[in-house]
Formats: sequence, C-alpha cells, structure tokens
Amino acid sequence: MKKIAILGSTGSIGTQALDVVRHLPEEFSVEVLAANSNVELFTRQVEEFRPKLAVLADEAAYKKFSARKFQGVELAGGRQAFIDAADFDGVEIVLTAMSGFAGLEPTIKAINSGKNIALANKETLVVAGELITKLAKARGVKILPVDSEHGAFFQCLQGEDSRTINKLLLTASGGPFRGKTRDELLNVTIKDVLAHPTWSMGKKITVDSATLVNKGLEVIEAKFLYGVDYNQIQVVVHPQSIVHSMVEFNDGSIIAQLAAPDMRLPIQYALTYPQRLPSPVKPLNFWEINSLTFEEPDVETFLGLKFAYEAGKEGGTLPCTFNAANEVAVNAFLSGRIKFLNIYDVIYHAMSSRLVTHNPTLEDLIAEDIEARRLAEEFIEEET
Ligand code: NDP
Ligand code: MG
Repeated sequence: MKKIAILGSTGSIGTQALDVVRHLPEEFSVEVLAANSNVELFTRQVEEFRPKLAVLADEAAYKKFSARKFQGVELAGGRQAFIDAADFDGVEIVLTAMSGFAGLEPTIKAINSGKNIALANKETLVVAGELITKLAKARGVKILPVDSEHGAFFQCLQGEDSRTINKLLLTASGGPFRGKTRDELLNVTIKDVLAHPTWSMGKKITVDSATLVNKGLEVIEAKFLYGVDYNQIQVVVHPQSIVHSMVEFNDGSIIAQLAAPDMRLPIQYALTYPQRLPSPVKPLNFWEINSLTFEEPDVETFLGLKFAYEAGKEGGTLPCTFNAANEVAVNAFLSGRIKFLNIYDVIYHAMSSRLVTHNPTLEDLIAEDIEARRLAEEFIEEET
C-alpha cells in the first residue's frame, strides 16, 4: 500500500483524488488529510478515511472542527500545522491539491523530507520553478504531474529520451469565451466565466481558464517539468478536451494522449506511477466523437498567455509577480470588485512596476509575492 498525504482534500482535485482512493482501496493508505476551511466536508472525509493526521489551516475553522474527536486521528490547526503536515513520517507521496501560492512552502517541506510530489498546485512550479526542480533533483524526489496536459506529456514521454523532444503541443479548451472579441467580453458576469465548457474545477482555475492565464501558468509549468525552451512549447486550442496534449519528436512523429476529460485519470496515474491500473473513467467511444478540431489561440484578446510567456522568458521573480497579481485580480473579480478584462490590467500593472530579481531565494519569492499583492490591491483600490 502506498502511503499518501492529500493537501487540499476538500477541493476539486482533493475530492477526486479521494474518489480514486475509493476505487483502489487496496493500493493506498491515506495518512494525512489537510484542507483550509470547509469544516463540514473535511469532517466527513476524516470520518471516512481515518487518516493518522488531519489538519485545517484556517484557525477559526479548526476550532469548530476540533470540537469533535476522532479515535486514532491526530488533529492540528493553523498555517504552520498545514505546512508541517507535508513531511508526516512514513508518507511516500504528497498530493499538492491546495490552490495558489499557499502551496509553495508545504511543497518545499515535502521535497526536503524526500517525499515524492504528485503536483496539482501548478502555481508552486510557476513561482519557484528553478528552486523546486533543483531541490527535487538534489533530494532524489520525483515530481509527478497531475495537471491533465502535463500528465499527457508525462505519458507520451515514457521510454523516450527527453533530448529528442522537438515541441510540446499543449492543448487548451479555449475556455468559455473562445472566439469572442474584447468588446463582447466587456460585461461578462461571474456566472458566464464559471460556466466552463468541458471541465468542472475550483473557481480560481476556472477564471484562469477563461483568461487563458491558466494556459500561461501551464506553459511555465511545462518548461520546468520537461526542461525545454519556451519556443518549444506551443499552445493549441482544442475545444473538445479529448487530446490532453502531444509531444512532437525530432523525427516528426507526434505522440498524443487521449481520454475523456476526467481529472481522476491523471490524478490516478500520478499516484500509482509507474503502475497503470483500472480506473472508473469511461473509455472513449469514437463513434460518439464527431470530430476533433484544433486552432490557434487568440493571444491579442486573451492576454493571459502573452503575459505568461513574457514572465517565463524573463524568469527570476517575474513569474511570481505574474502569479500574485493574478491571484489578487481573480479574487477581486469573484467578489465583484473588478470586471473580467480588468484582470489583465492588474497583472500588467504589477508586472511592469516591479524590478526582477534573478536566481531568487525562497525569501525573495515570499517578499515578491507580498509586494506584488500589495501593488495589485493598491491598483484595484485606485481604479474602483
Ligand atoms: P479548489 O479551490 O477546488 O480547492 C482548493 C483546496 O485548497 C481546498 O481544499 C481548500 O480548502 C484548500 N486551500 C485553499 N486555500 C488554502 C490555504 N491558504 N491553505 C491551505 N489550503 C488551502 O481548487 P482546485 O482543486 O480546482 O485546484 C487545486 C490546485 O490544482 C490548483 O493549483 C489548480 O491550479 C490545480 N489544478 C486543478 C485542476 C482541476 O481540475 N480542478 C486541474 C489541474 C490543476 P477549503 O476548501 O477547505 O477551504
Ligand atoms: Mg490543465
């Protein structure tokens, strides 16, 4: 049995990971569950999976949760306890399913203690790609991608020499506004943005999918996972979300990974790797797929991708600035403080205001995250 920790168990990825565990009860022992504030769902998860350790990062939520006792389960609360949960004794693989920059410190802690990472929290790799990949190499830790596109690259690359990669063809659904003009996006509502055509995900990543910031984060994520140059990563819009990504090799061959759009598949592969096991995901029926189409992304309307390439190519602290400003902007959009297209203004403002520090330390990144958030908040205050 593989001993696993799930950080962010109450989210979209976390709950689907627990579904994978339900289908493969012989394969996994859930040693640690950790979440932020969803007491009700977390309580049910702890009752069902009986981990050795259960942590809620939010203090008030923890207070409510810890009023109950669970036999054989150690309880802990607060931000530091959430970080410490990442190096729980005996755990072999940590699934990072929390959202945003909050994933960075626990991920570093897990790597430092030699645990393999099933990485869903892409923000971590975007913000601290150099640091994380170096650390993982030094500690002999595997970073197994959960993101469906990167899971596809990972599968396409099994048995291949990464030096023979010509191009990574990163597919994108295009989000709910594919084909729309800037004018048509002026007054889109939160509800419009959250209506993703192919995937059901947490709110933050769903907004990121609509701005194409998510695809931008994935470009940077792919760069660090596979060590290619930015000009070797090409985004291809594929609205059906059946081809999860493709690798073009030096002989012109392209290998693609196809499956129904169901995150349980890449989650399971990351957790069971190198084994491939039966899954609850329904295989594709080619008689029901009318067509698979591919098109070029509109990077002039959906600036998220453009900003990400700029941030990634510059490197240093700029991807951290990009990510922090985006997190602030997405929250402001979701709370009705700014309009959809203003998300780009916030990111642009933060990225063009900051000097870049190259080869940043963890402390530099934490400081940059704080400063970029402050700048973004200030900009939103002034504009609204
Ligand atoms: P959700 O918003 O659905 O869930 C986020 C999880 O993180 C919840 O368990 C939440 O706890 C917890 N959390 C939030 N903030 C904090 C914090 N400050 N400290 C500790 N825990 C926190 O997100 P998703 O599951 O959609 O996404 C998670 C990560 O996976 C993201 O990085 C995303 O980019 C990535 N990802 C997601 C995909 C998807 O299909 N959803 C696909 C590919 C990648 P609580 O709910 O208890 O407050
Ligand atoms: Mg993805």
